[in-house]
Amino acid sequence: PAPSPSPSSASPPPASNVASGLVDLRPSGYDLVIVGCGLSGCVIAERASAVLGLTSLIIDKRSHIGGNCFDYIDEASGLRISQYGVHLFHTKSERVWEYVNRFEEWMPYCHRVKAKVDLQRGNGYQLTSLPPNRETVNTLFDANVTSEEDMEAWLASRRVGNVEDAKNGEESALSRAGPELYEAIFKYYTYKQWDRLPDQMDASVLARIPVRLDEDNRYFTDEHQALPKHGYTRIFENLLHGHKDIDVRLDVDFFNEKDKLPKHTTLVFTGPIDAYFASQGMPKLEYRSLTWDVEYHDTEPCETYQEALQVNYPGMEVPYTRIVEYKHKPNQPVKAKEGKGTLIFKEFSVDDGDPYYPVPNPANRDLYEKYRELAEKEQGVLFVGRLASYKYFNMDQAILNALELFDAWKAEGKL
Ligand code: UDP
Repeated sequence: PAPSPSPSSASPPPASNVASGLVDLRPSGYDLVIVGCGLSGCVIAERASAVLGLTSLIIDKRSHIGGNCFDYIDEASGLRISQYGVHLFHTKSERVWEYVNRFEEWMPYCHRVKAKVDLQRGNGYQLTSLPPNRETVNTLFDANVTSEEDMEAWLASRRVGNVEDAKNGEESALSRAGPELYEAIFKYYTYKQWDRLPDQMDASVLARIPVRLDEDNRYFTDEHQALPKHGYTRIFENLLHGHKDIDVRLDVDFFNEKDKLPKHTTLVFTGPIDAYFASQGMPKLEYRSLTWDVEYHDTEPCETYQEALQVNYPGMEVPYTRIVEYKHKPNQPVKAKEGKGTLIFKEFSVDDGDPYYPVPNPANRDLYEKYRELAEKEQGVLFVGRLASYKYFNMDQAILNALELFDAWKAEGKL
């Protein structure tokens, strides 16, 4: 492998190889044309150059690099905002951790999520931590649980069925948490997020949220949890800008411009797999999208609107799932973090719009299998990423998947 570049702490290299539209292309063409400038597309381009010396053209229909990880500084508030919703990097994988450290400096950060739960006692919201732990059941149900043994007993008397047998999200939550926590935390949040109750979702979706015996109130327990010091976009800038083997062309919609692409050996597609095969007349896969109501609040210097970066609302009394307040992130520019005012983002899950989440359930899984069979037969095209694999990947899983697929493609002589 090529030596690792060390991440720049000052400004990123100039973007001489990034432009809008299919202009200034290499006359001889490219080894790879990569559709999508998110994590998967960028990892493949970077590895293809570093390991095999291959050239890539990355196209994206959006006007920016970084896919859904894209963040930017909001001019009015000076705050760094994630355009496509809050992203928190965490990983158990040493390989991924080592890889991302090549492209940015990271600062340790443990994400701690709060929930505001209204159990209709008429007392308004109770603030508790998520995932549910001892503090959660004491706050919500006056459980008076003080040890791991107490918590285990509290849960054991409530759990319904075995977690190993859980066939759907409802059984996953009931077998770990029992009915009270299920109703208070899981059932309606899931309904708001997916527009279906947990019994219509795969167990794996609700299994993302553990139920803890202790008082650990971190959202993730992975060894590596950190924020990119200059934001997520900087990772992509450091990876792409000025790269000798990679050109990036933004504002290029693959489906409108596929006949105008330069000569290439292999196409790497990171978009929705059902969009790629739309002409086959098969049913579409389902996705969820997100929208936000953004509010400015005139807080005092250094003050915030809410108790944490992310506060979930797992009940039906409000239509949004969570409120995100980026001012809490320690990688904010100091002036904005210590200044007056804040922005909050009330997040709504919707049917239409850019696809953000695949909807993991048996019907979509079966349908995806049919698309996957088509993908395997497609000559000269390789599929990778959350949308092309129809998998609910976290950021680190998307990176690891791309690294591993690259290795496999190389071993199989597909590149
Ligand atoms: N979930 C829940 N209540 C919560 C948070 C999550 O029931 O307060 C369930 C819900 O089904 C959600 C899933 O767990 O879709 C995964 O949540 P996560 O926070 O991992 O979602 P993401 O941040 O990826 O949107």
